[in-house]
Amino acid sequence: MEDIIVLKFGGSSVSNNENLKTVANKIIDFKNNNQNIVVILSAQGKTTDKLIHEAYELTEEVNKRELDALVSCGEQMSSAKLSILLNSLGFPAVSLTGWQAGIYTNNTNQDALIETINTERIYSELESGNIVIITGFQGINENLDITTFGRGGSDTTAVAVAAALKAKNCYIFSDVDGIYSSDPNKVQGTKKLTKLSYDEMLQLSNEGAKVLHNRCIEIGAKYNIPIITKSTFNDNYGTVISDQKIEKNEIKSIIKKDVSRISIIGNGIIRNTDAIIKAINFIKQNKLEMLEFNVSESKISITFKTFVSDKMLEKLHNEIFTNK
Ligand code: ASP
Ligand code: MG
Repeated sequence: MEDIIVLKFGGSSVSNNENLKTVANKIIDFKNNNQNIVVILSAQGKTTDKLIHEAYELTEEVNKRELDALVSCGEQMSSAKLSILLNSLGFPAVSLTGWQAGIYTNNTNQDALIETINTERIYSELESGNIVIITGFQGINENLDITTFGRGGSDTTAVAVAAALKAKNCYIFSDVDGIYSSDPNKVQGTKKLTKLSYDEMLQLSNEGAKVLHNRCIEIGAKYNIPIITKSTFNDNYGTVISDQKIEKNEIKSIIKKDVSRISIIGNGIIRNTDAIIKAINFIKQNKLEMLEFNVSESKISITFKTFVSDKMLEKLHNEIFTNK
C-alpha cells in the first residue's frame, strides 16, 4: 500500500459548519496528492466541556463508565458530520468510532491507555478508496465498553493510529501553527520553531506547553512518527517534531510554568521514613501529579505539575503532625 498520511483536527478547527468546510478542503488538498488519508477528529468547539458540565449538573458523583459513554459522543458527531460533507463534495469517506477502528484500551475510564489497534477495518476502507475518519480520544475495553483517554486525547489517537499504520507523517492541525521560542501571547518577538526533537517537545509539554497531549509525543518517539503541527486557518509552515538527535545543540524555547512547591522541613528528615511515606501517600491519595520529589538532610521538597490548593496544604499538615 502507498504511504498513509494521518491528519488530526482539533475542536476549534471544526467548531462550526464554516470551519468544517475549511477542514474538508484541507483534507481534499491532501487527498489530491496522496492516495491514503486517515483523519482523526476532536469534538466540535466546547462540546466536551458542555457534556461534562451537564453530567455534573445531574450529580456530583458521576459514574465514570457513563461519563465515557457520554463524552465520546462529541467525536462521533463531528466525525459523522465531516463524512457527510466530504461525501457530498464527491470524496468518498467513512466515519469510524474508536471500536470500529479497532482501538483497544485498558479498563481505566477517563484515562484509558491504548493497548492494541487492530487495523483491518481501516486498511479495508482505505483499499476501497475511502477517506477514513476516526473519532479521537476513545477506544473500547475488554468488556466492549467505551473508554476515553483524558482531555486532549485525540492527539494520542492520531499518533497511535499513525504508528499502527506505519504512516509517513502525522499532522496535528489546530488554531496555532506551531511551537514558538516562548509563549507568543505573553512575550513579544518570539519566533516559530521549524524543528524540535521528541525529547525537547516532551520537556516543553511537561512544563505546560499545551499544543500537544503528552502521551502522543511519547508514542511518536517510540515509533518514530514525525509529528507536524500546523494551523487549520492558514498555510504557514509548522513545527516538525521528529528524531533529531544528531542535530547540533541549540536553545529552542523558554517557558514559564506556575507550579506549586510544598516543603517539609526538619533536621534529619532524610532518616524519617515515616514522613517520607506520608508525603508519598498524600500525593497518591490525592492524585496529585509531581514534577520533582527531593529529599535532603533537612527537607522534603515536592514540586507539583499544577497549582495545589491551600486545602491540600492543610491536609498534608494534619497528616504529618498526627502521630498515627
Ligand atoms: N474532545 C476531547 C477534549 O476536549 C478530546 C480532544 O479534543 O482531544 O478533551
Ligand atoms: Mg488538543
